[in-house]
Amino acid sequence: MTERIDGGPRSVVVVGAGIVGLSTAWFLQERGIEVTVVDREGVAAGASWGNAGWISPALTIPLNQPSVLRYGLKSLLSPSAPLHIPLRANFGLWRFLTKFALNCRRSRTEHVINANLPLNEEALEAYDVLIDNGVDAPRLDAAITALFENDAQAGELRRELQDMRAAGQHIEVTELSGPQLRERVPLAAASATVGLAVEHQRYVDPGQFVTALGRAVTERGAQIRELRVTDITHYRGQIAVHAFGGEMLVADAVVLATGAWLNDLTHRWLRTDVRAGRGYSFTVPVDRPIPGPIYLPTARVACTPYQDGLRVAGTMEFRGPDDPLDSARVRAVAASAGRMLDGVRWDQMRDVWVGPRPVTADGLPLIGQLDDGVFVAGGHGMWGLAHGPVTGRLLAEQVSTGKQPDALRPFEPYR
Ligand SMILES: Cc1cc2nc3c(=O)[nH]c(=O)nc-3n(C[C@H](O)[C@H](O)[C@H](O)COP(=O)(O)OP(=O)(O)OC[C@H]3O[C@@H](n4cnc5c(N)ncnc54)[C@H](O)[C@@H]3O)c2cc1C
Repeated sequence: MTERIDGGPRSVVVVGAGIVGLSTAWFLQERGIEVTVVDREGVAAGASWGNAGWISPALTIPLNQPSVLRYGLKSLLSPSAPLHIPLRANFGLWRFLTKFALNCRRSRTEHVINANLPLNEEALEAYDVLIDNGVDAPRLDAAITALFENDAQAGELRRELQDMRAAGQHIEVTELSGPQLRERVPLAAASATVGLAVEHQRYVDPGQFVTALGRAVTERGAQIRELRVTDITHYRGQIAVHAFGGEMLVADAVVLATGAWLNDLTHRWLRTDVRAGRGYSFTVPVDRPIPGPIYLPTARVACTPYQDGLRVAGTMEFRGPDDPLDSARVRAVAASAGRMLDGVRWDQMRDVWVGPRPVTADGLPLIGQLDDGVFVAGGHGMWGLAHGPVTGRLLAEQVSTGKQPDALRPFEPYR
């Protein structure tokens, strides 16, 4: 048995170098723990690269909503709909989707909103801690403005924001129309007549941020190894992390943060499924500078200023995390966003990407202890970038002290 400080682990292997794994690694280092990070493909190889980059506590609206269920049923009949479920889905996926559907009810939505409140409260501050202590990436404050063709369309988002407010989430919204709307969103097409600007949110270039976080973790003494982990076992009072090819890493504890691939390593302990809700993104040049992100709720599309253009992200496609990119879905995202935006050069699309959101059937991530020395952090769905750093901070506390922080209770993996 390795010598330990106050019974806590001295060494931890973190599996998964996305926003969740690397944040956990950073906060474990803050507690004096020696960390090794392993990823099958390197830093930001999964969902953490091409996402929309929003760190927007006010918009962490749960996916499990009665409206999503109605929408999902309609989408089954349309191959270009923003939600895509293959009709030939296997039994495991249908079982997951049935559980998901059963959780699309108001009481569940309220539960998820309440569970997320403590994460939302600390989400921006956890980013500040990383950036103020050496993670070299810009933080950009801005309003995120939702566009609609008419007032009736805006009703659903107004109601969702009201539910969040009623639970205690601080949200400031400015209603926009006419010249004011066009001034705040210079790319709004003539068809966009109503805007809701959700003030005081933030966004980052996610690939740049996660790469900088990986660099910071390395500079603080960690190794980042490119290995595909195949199993986790107990080994002489410690934990053995087995990799493809036969290599074995030994540490006092392991944190499994493999996003949409989580099931592969947690099946020994958990029956809870994490499925890939795949999203697509691409970048396009624009004719006018954009002051902040644009949300197109009716198309389920998120647009973010990115490099010298606009990153456009959308779609929820339930397929395997490693399945190939489907260019028909990219065209569908561009076509639906094109109806609301003007001055976007859609024909000059670059950086086309697909990535797997790690989605759970009950809308909550799995964060906590699975076994002696074995911890899990994943399944954040639509909001893993926003909640990654705060998750890492809270889980590092649990790993090092052995006590579950109150904020993590709703995310208990054996719930
Ligand atoms: C289109 C799109 C837009 C999004 N927009 C936003 C947004 O604006 N704001 C927001 O908060 N969230 C957003 N998300 C969600 C967010 O991207 C994810 O929730 C988040 O990135 C998940 O992070 P993660 O670290 O859990 O997983 P990942 O980033 O997927 O990392 C998991 C890592 O584990 C590695 N791995 C897997 N299996 C193994 C193995 N066996 N051995 C070793 N390594 C392994 C993978 O290579 C990968 O690098 C969006 C997602 C998509 C797809």
